[in-house]
Amino acid sequence: MQFETLGLSPALLRALAETGYTTPTPIQAQAIPLVLAGHDLLGGAQTGTGKTAAFGLPLLQRLAKETPPKGPRKPRALILVPTRELAVQVADSIKAYSRHLRLNVTTLFGGVGMQPQIENLRRGVDVLVACPGRLLDHMQSGHAKLDAIEVLVLDEADRMLDMGFLPSMKRILAKVPSQRQTLLFSATFEPRIRALALEIMRNPQQVQV
Ligand code: AMP
Repeated sequence: MQFETLGLSPALLRALAETGYTTPTPIQAQAIPLVLAGHDLLGGAQTGTGKTAAFGLPLLQRLAKETPPKGPRKPRALILVPTRELAVQVADSIKAYSRHLRLNVTTLFGGVGMQPQIENLRRGVDVLVACPGRLLDHMQSGHAKLDAIEVLVLDEADRMLDMGFLPSMKRILAKVPSQRQTLLFSATFEPRIRALALEIMRNPQQVQV
């Protein structure tokens, strides 16, 4: 199996080759065609399986297909993550995969100043990687607007629930257009994850590694 057979664009294939990836991991081989086809997805995968590229590559391909409007852009993809470390890691990967696309990727997490994050939001963002608490702060102050979101990713959803983020996630979800693609990744499909999936996704495809 090669990345070329999954339907990815030349710009993404070039970035993957430059990053040193030659073969898709099992979660990538299963998930990428489904996400490219526009399906909602429930993905069972732990960190280390390559799940970031499994959702990141098709997400980037979707955003790159349409030319964003001129001037500061509102985020069209939102990736919610439980921790600052994961936010940095996911954003670094997404930046590497999008190096030949003209898309802005930025992170929002707590424990650091608001101002640099506000300036990044003002400059215009295509892909937002955020922890729920800090994202809510920026929504409440009017700096983060989610009305242009087309793709929503919940990464490590089980950990977000463990950390008590469900109320914050619900408040965020209420501001994301219901007409969107939703991708949920979790290490397990325990009942509370299935319940969440049922609530926020439409006819999701399921993959597990
Ligand atoms: P993740 O599970 O997304 O955190 O990825 C785990 C690690 O595997 C990261 O260091 C990725 O850069 C790397 N990785 C992801 N997909 C591939 C691939 N297809 N080939 C080689 N390395 C990969």
